[in-house]
Amino acid sequence: MSLQKYKVKRKFTKTKEPRPKVIRKSLSRFVVQEHHARNLHWDFRLEMESNINSGNIVLKSWAVPKGVPEKYGEKRLAVAVEDHPVAYINFKGIIPKGEYGGGTVKIWDKGKFKLLRRTSKEIEIILSGNKAKGRYSLVKTSFAKNSWLLIKLKQK
Ligand code: MN
Repeated sequence: MSLQKYKVKRKFTKTKEPRPKVIRKSLSRFVVQEHHARNLHWDFRLEMESNINSGNIVLKSWAVPKGVPEKYGEKRLAVAVEDHPVAYINFKGIIPKGEYGGGTVKIWDKGKFKLLRRTSKEIEIILSGNKAKGRYSLVKTSFAKNSWLLIKLKQK
């Protein structure tokens, strides 16, 4: 079950975050949530298959400490975190203090994306948000586990 990690980290009697649920169809949406937790970061999430060809749709998720780049050529560290349920795309509000990710979540941007390419090490997309727009690549790095770079690319 691809949302097992999501499930074990949370107590659904305490947090209003969505319960884990895998669905079968993607609407190709993304969200960037501004998360004022112990450390401010932005959570970048893509509605897509948990694993390639699994048919299990979740939000693939990365924590981006410095936020989504808005200028061509900018690269930001993006730490892969556990898959989230698709319903999380609309989540905003307060996660209680003391709970996992405790703090305030705001939606910084959302919209649709077009998937150009996906391998185990790279995801290339075009975002159509209000703030995050254009071609981006997520590239897995070799220097640390779960460590990716989120790169804003020139439009082709
Ligand atoms: Mn977060």
